[in-house]
Amino acid sequence: MQGFEHIEEELNAMKEEGLFRSLVPIESDQGPKVTIDGQELIQLSSNNYLGLTTHPKMKQAASEAADAYGAGTGSVRTIAGTFSMHEAFERKLAEFKHTEATLVLQSGFTANQAVLSSLLSKEDVVISDELNHASIIDGIRLTKAARKIYRHVDMASLEEALKASQSYRKRLVVTDGVFSMDGNIAPLPEIVELCEKYDALIMVDDAHASGVLGRNGRGTVDHFDLNGRVHIQVGTLSKAIGVLGGYIASTQSVRDYLIHKGRPFLFSTSHPPAVTAACSKAIDILNDEPELIEKLWNNTRFLKDGLEKLGFDTGKSETPITPVVVGDGAKAHELSDRLVKAGVFAQGIAFPTVPKDSARVRTIVTAEHDEAMLQQALDAFEEAGKDLGII
Ligand SMILES: *Cc1c(COP(=O)(O)O)cnc(C)c1O
Repeated sequence: MQGFEHIEEELNAMKEEGLFRSLVPIESDQGPKVTIDGQELIQLSSNNYLGLTTHPKMKQAASEAADAYGAGTGSVRTIAGTFSMHEAFERKLAEFKHTEATLVLQSGFTANQAVLSSLLSKEDVVISDELNHASIIDGIRLTKAARKIYRHVDMASLEEALKASQSYRKRLVVTDGVFSMDGNIAPLPEIVELCEKYDALIMVDDAHASGVLGRNGRGTVDHFDLNGRVHIQVGTLSKAIGVLGGYIASTQSVRDYLIHKGRPFLFSTSHPPAVTAACSKAIDILNDEPELIEKLWNNTRFLKDGLEKLGFDTGKSETPITPVVVGDGAKAHELSDRLVKAGVFAQGIAFPTVPKDSARVRTIVTAEHDEAMLQQALDAFEEAGKDLGII
């Protein structure tokens, strides 16, 4: 069909630069090993930190809920799509997060859009870390508030922005709890101190910290003992929780307000029963099986130490997200392709997801990997890294 020459040209340029990627369909479930194109590969690219996507109790909860309540809900939450299980889960989640209330949305992406587009107006300002997730950036694009960006985890830069923002009615500082491409943790205690000093609200997006950091995986706020001092926590149910969804954990008033003003909440259908039941079961598992988080961190140390000993640049990672930074985008994809040949699935990530000169292969271990799998991965990294002149 004619008419798309402008994008076809751009696609061709991407192909020439070696930056064009096809989607990679998985033929198995999302376990520590997956089947891709008939080949069994060690999975080092998923966000399935605790292995909950395939946990027997999760699968059972999902299928029982589908049997009892059907495949879908047939409406948005505000019209006819709130089932009692949705509200029961939100209460359970609030208790888990030690907040007054929570509200669940379709995804972490839409949770950020809902909060950032609705909570502020033109007499306010939002102050954002320059490396915040795309869903925060897009959420900020939707607000009428003024916008300021501070340099990545740079507290002097944040303080400067806060000082220059005193004339606004409200200041909202927003940060990822764990940064998704580098695996570093936001310096939340310092951010909280600055926000208290300059009378700002704080919002933390804990997508990669939910189920990973804090007691039983409560996130960065709990990890740093800052319960009660962070105004809004956003979390995802799509990563360590193993299913799908996003939530806002905050006050009852924020929940009530978002029910009336959060556009993704108002205008997009609620989660199917299987999703909500499985998410709810995941909270039980976090409470009952803390050994999963312990295993995750043991595996994290094993792979991270191994990669560093081999001489790879793993940046400033402090979490199960360990990047192997190679610089050039085409080289990152080449390394990834070599790893696949050696039985390891670790995706190359290049511009625009990361800056142009810091393309990488990003690895994420899970609680379900065993040492033999991780050693095989290290061996594959060593061989490919040497062949490509990276180490
Ligand atoms: C993945 C991610 C999201 C989006 O979460 P989904 O539930 O997948 O939509 C939001 N914020 C951050 C920091 C993330 O890493």
